[in-house]
Amino acid sequence: MLLNSPAPDIKANYERLKALLAAHGKSAVRIIAVSKTRSAAEMNLLYDLGQREFGENRLQEGRQKFSFLNGPVILHHIGPLQKSGVRLIPGCFQYVQGISRMDVLENLARAALRFADGQKDSRFIPIHYLIQVDLTGEESKLGGMREEELFSLPGFVENQALIFSGFMTMGPSDGDPVQTREVFHRLREIRNKLLPAGELSMGMSSDLEIALEEGATMIRPGSMLFGARS
Ligand SMILES: *Cc1c(COP(=O)(O)O)cnc(C)c1O
Repeated sequence: MLLNSPAPDIKANYERLKALLAAHGKSAVRIIAVSKTRSAAEMNLLYDLGQREFGENRLQEGRQKFSFLNGPVILHHIGPLQKSGVRLIPGCFQYVQGISRMDVLENLARAALRFADGQKDSRFIPIHYLIQVDLTGEESKLGGMREEELFSLPGFVENQALIFSGFMTMGPSDGDPVQTREVFHRLREIRNKLLPAGELSMGMSSDLEIALEEGATMIRPGSMLFGARS
């Protein structure tokens, strides 16, 4: 793929982010570089600096770029997942972060198992999923399970090809720092109750530091690394 005039400051942005993590004593936190709308060439700039985890919200776009990357990566699907998109996950995405419906999750469990059974060798890597929790009460179109719903689940779906790995959330859309902190803090409490060793995926470009302070194990910066999306 041709180099599509990548923003020259991606490298500087990445180094700044790494320094920020180090300053918080959080260098072990996983950076999921959100590369939606960005070219494979831009992603490869980060790849060459050692970045291996990327987040995409469109399944087809993610799959297309996947084959142009300089080497193996871990792709995270970060948007709301619909039933119709489930079949596009196995073989490309290793993490699904936007699970908020049990029927979609059950479909994903079947699709993952079917895909794993179809692999002749044992190279299939299980798919991990994170439940998205909506703690802002905004009824946002971005989805997320309500807390009441989460606590009334009969259990968490798992099989040999699908692993329940933790929780994901988004802060309030107005970015209010006090409410953002409350949301992230609450997600951590939920994680501690339901899956103590589970992942906590929280923090985008604008609320990264609050997320780090509240114990995020994965952060999802996009524009902070690649520049503003048009
Ligand atoms: C777009 C997106 C991000 C990254 O947002 P930025 O503001 O660009 O950092 C993170 N998480 C989700 C779920 C997204 O859709």
